[in-house]
Amino acid sequence: MKSFVAYAALFAASVNAAAIPFWKEGKDFNPIFVTLTRLNDTKVRAAVTNRDDTEYNLFIRGTFLDEVPINKFHVRNKNSNARFAGIFQRLSYDNPAPESFRAIHPHETLAIEVELAELYDLDTDGQYDVSTAGRIYYAEANSTELTGKAMSFNSNRLSFSVSAFKAGGHSNAVDKIAKRTNIQNDCSGENLQAIHTALDNCAALATSAACNATSGPAAKMEEYFMASDESTRSTVADRLNAVADDCRQTASGPTRTYCSDVYNGCSSNVLAYTLPAYNYIAYCPLFFNNLPALTNRCHNQDQATTVLHEETHAPDVYAPGTLDNAYGYDAAMSLSRDAAVNNADTYALFANALYAGC
Ligand SMILES: [Zn+2]
Repeated sequence: MKSFVAYAALFAASVNAAAIPFWKEGKDFNPIFVTLTRLNDTKVRAAVTNRDDTEYNLFIRGTFLDEVPINKFHVRNKNSNARFAGIFQRLSYDNPAPESFRAIHPHETLAIEVELAELYDLDTDGQYDVSTAGRIYYAEANSTELTGKAMSFNSNRLSFSVSAFKAGGHSNAVDKIAKRTNIQNDCSGENLQAIHTALDNCAALATSAACNATSGPAAKMEEYFMASDESTRSTVADRLNAVADDCRQTASGPTRTYCSDVYNGCSSNVLAYTLPAYNYIAYCPLFFNNLPALTNRCHNQDQATTVLHEETHAPDVYAPGTLDNAYGYDAAMSLSRDAAVNNADTYALFANALYAGC
């Protein structure tokens, strides 16, 4: 499986989260609002309030409401985005588990406290801005059947001064886990076979998608990436070619592949996750047990495009690594051009669409 790469290389990448505007113009469904409050130093409280008279069951995976160390906020100082030090997950929306939801009653507020210094490198003294925006998939009250639609949310923007020395007193979320994990090459038997097939399919899909990005129909680029100019085409094609290169290399290359939950990122409905700080990709039991190798159904998930999705997150494959700005067709097609070009699932959906002839 993919080779180990020196830790030093990972500092080359920075999170590029300041894509503004984030969403395309259009009608939004936004019954919730998020209020960010600073608790102390670099700890914040994110409180989501249901402004509606209707109860919703929020699918919290991939959102700031989940306890796992995923990218929850836009954190930026005056020069750049703070480097993200957690994990990126790919989610499955099939058979959503009850524990993947949180009910929010009419006018209720749900809150979570987050230590920013565990999720982001706050290694420069000075003023930081913190905000969040995104989409949350949901079910009706007392149901775990997703409606297929996503509600959008925004927050206020917090602005405060950070002491890099104080922030440095907190270990990064992934480092805390890494220190107590003895990592082994854990792909064997059927899992090893599945990973080899998925990497081969990833290479083929990414190569074909790169060709399409370079010289395929403008309409497809506009559908998925909101633009078809030369610069957008070449950015998308370059990233996909880099992904194809890495997927082709099973004994070396920038990423390292794991077939078990080495960093405790496999909660319910999680297929796989990437630690961008280390270019590690881990595949969860759901990836092996619930996904077909390759699907020809439009916008469905399979092992091939899950590998492709995760590969785009790794900054040593192509920098900057992508973010999870939106998951799934409904939310991803509402992103702005910049947010789409930086969104992992958009690449997976694009590659699937070309293969399946959507
Ligand atoms: Zn992802």
